[in-house]
Amino acid sequence: NLYNMLQEMRGNIRVFCRIRPLNSESISSIEYIGNDGSIMVCDPSKAQTTRKIFQFNKTFGPTTTQDEVYMETQSLIRSVMDGYNVCIFAYGQTGSGKTHTMCGPSGGLSSNDLGVNNMALNDLFTISTSREDMKYDIRVQMVEIYNEQVHIRTSTNGLFNIPDAKMCPVQSPSDVMNLMLLGEKHRSSGPTAMNNRSSRSHSILTVHVNGKDMSGNVSCSCLHLVDLAGSERVDRSEATGDRLKEAQHINKSLSCLGDVITALAQKNSHIPYRNSKLTQLLQSSLGGNAKTLMLAHISPEGESYVETLSTLKFAQRVS
Ligand code: ADP
Ligand code: MG
Repeated sequence: NLYNMLQEMRGNIRVFCRIRPLNSESISSIEYIGNDGSIMVCDPSKAQTTRKIFQFNKTFGPTTTQDEVYMETQSLIRSVMDGYNVCIFAYGQTGSGKTHTMCGPSGGLSSNDLGVNNMALNDLFTISTSREDMKYDIRVQMVEIYNEQVHIRTSTNGLFNIPDAKMCPVQSPSDVMNLMLLGEKHRSSGPTAMNNRSSRSHSILTVHVNGKDMSGNVSCSCLHLVDLAGSERVDRSEATGDRLKEAQHINKSLSCLGDVITALAQKNSHIPYRNSKLTQLLQSSLGGNAKTLMLAHISPEGESYVETLSTLKFAQRVS
């Protein structure tokens, strides 16, 4: 259909929206979720409200399971084994469910409700052992960007905060799970007025895949799974001092990311990769043949309406 044709022409950028379950005692700002990826929101605190409609490639309602989300990203992730570079971003305000989607409800502590990160790795291992005509080498790296500084979270001996850390060869999904758990624990976080443990840094899990076929041809590709810092605006968290500085870095890097993806979607000749550490780090996996998926997360409570609207606008802009 026409919509899919337009998507094709726009290149390899897709946007999904995920709405987490409503906290009890709150009134929802979500009016309607369509099977076609549309979502209608309104501000429930206003007597006379204007309804706003947004359209994405998919919109996942609050009852969507982790498996259902993964099913829709699986083909993208599998294309890494065929030599494509892939970036998946979890975007949204703190508390909207980014870490839930990427790492699961317990941040990977249990094997129930695994997130995209673990399911992706499991999938890649399964493919690598099932293809008899190919030999794969899979390595992972966890990196955190905090205040525009890059911190490498993994090393070959499993220790953290080592500046010259190398990539970790991984043999099994449980190797990866252990690394991710440690990495998640080492993320910088600090209290804000909005949330006790707010994520103030971008967390990037990179999976490097080297494939070799029977005639010795080598292919290299990578998958970046990014749990972005909370997108909430500075004034809402009443930040001062260090918190304010963090918030400004976050705002800047998220808007740079938006600029890069928008420029790619519009097929501009100049792509402003160099404006942030995040886009510099991911440059080789954004644009060209690379495939990008933005997972925009929404907190459905009426109190979050302003942030919800801002997330939907951001996501609309890059799609
Ligand atoms: P973020 O990483 O965006 O700050 P979290 O992933 O930590 O948000 O989610 C905030 C809270 O909401 C957590 O307690 C999490 O378990 C819960 N939550 C998020 N998404 C879902 C979901 N789809 N289903 C059930 N609970 C969820
Ligand atoms: Mg989080």
